[in-house]
Amino acid sequence: MMDADLARIRADFPALHLPVKGRAPVYLDSACTTLRPEPVISAMADYMRRNSGCHGRAAHAFGREATRVVAEAREATRAFLGAAHADEVIFVRGCTEAINLVAECLPLGKGDTVLTTGIEHNSNLLPWQGLVRRRGVRHVVLPLDPARGFDMEAFRARLRDGVRLVSVVHVSNLCGIELPVAEICREAHRAGAWVLVDGAQSVATHAIDVGAMGADFFAFSFHKAFGPEGIGALYGRRDLLARMPAWQVGGDTVEDVTYDTCTWAAVPQRFEAGVANTTGAVGAAAAIAWLRGIGPDRILAHATALNERATAALSHFPRVHVIGPIDSVLRGSILNFWVDGLDSRSLAGLLDERAGVMVRYGKHCVHAWYHAAGIPDSVRASFSIYNTPADVDALTDTLGNVLSMIG
Ligand code: PLP
Repeated sequence: MMDADLARIRADFPALHLPVKGRAPVYLDSACTTLRPEPVISAMADYMRRNSGCHGRAAHAFGREATRVVAEAREATRAFLGAAHADEVIFVRGCTEAINLVAECLPLGKGDTVLTTGIEHNSNLLPWQGLVRRRGVRHVVLPLDPARGFDMEAFRARLRDGVRLVSVVHVSNLCGIELPVAEICREAHRAGAWVLVDGAQSVATHAIDVGAMGADFFAFSFHKAFGPEGIGALYGRRDLLARMPAWQVGGDTVEDVTYDTCTWAAVPQRFEAGVANTTGAVGAAAAIAWLRGIGPDRILAHATALNERATAALSHFPRVHVIGPIDSVLRGSILNFWVDGLDSRSLAGLLDERAGVMVRYGKHCVHAWYHAAGIPDSVRASFSIYNTPADVDALTDTLGNVLSMIG
């Protein structure tokens, strides 16, 4: 990207221009949460200043405005995901809640098998473990070597075991690899299984088209796509959602209630209990507009170029081990590594202390994979559209200094 373009994009992010301990922040944790651009911040602030109405049945002006912004956000999300119908978009708190909703509401029980891969985020593992305990569902884990990627042959073989639901990550938060989700959907459907795609890490860097992908469900959070926390969306196929019962229940999920009975509202209201996150919806719509203005392809290309630069620098340090493919292009925006003889918490602390470099440490909510691989933890840097080559150098130079210090 041209320097002027990058400077213009960076100018949209106030957080990049507020010194931390007297230094410009070097934010390399966008896989955890992205920074928010000014148009998202001001759209939300403006809405809160003007309006506090409840979405739904109010006849007054504030209520109508609240209803309008939620409907607009739903339509923007529909278009963003390439869904056919706005009522296939359910607003939730985030990706985690979306997956829990599917786990609770899909008719899965004894005799049904759910298949996930060995690199799923805890949010796409624990809900299925819960179904094993509570409903006698069988859970099968397809091993996945991050360096080799998804094994389609092994997947096909596993599908023959009567799998009812396949629930897989689109882009891995562990190592950045992309799974062939369209082919996974085709194969799963051929075997009579539904597919849930965890899009938490793909929405900011991949143009999503749930129709072309063939997913039955697609889950994501807006805070990883330049929007606010506390709002995400579940896309669900219309006919499937129509068959699913309400989960969290209360205000807005019903048409009518007596002391003993109720009639459920239609989808999506049936799944959106309680007052809507109207300000979040405003932020979500603004984030979609901002993201589409830049283009996910451009974000991925920029992040990948930075990852290449970082990976090349790290290759000079024999004590550093990268998780995932050697080819950084296959890891997109993610550089996850561990260092022989140095725990990830200490390293992340030193990077922050010495150069204001913000990275994530630990097991990155993929605990099961770390246990299976026998790796205690790692440090993950993740890049986005607002990062610069200087950010990468701050990471790799500081790492080099730390490594020479420990000998
Ligand atoms: N799935 C993946 C692949 C993730 O990376 C994350 C968050 O890091 C999640 C699910 C959970 O997202 P959230 O915490 O926004 O619900």
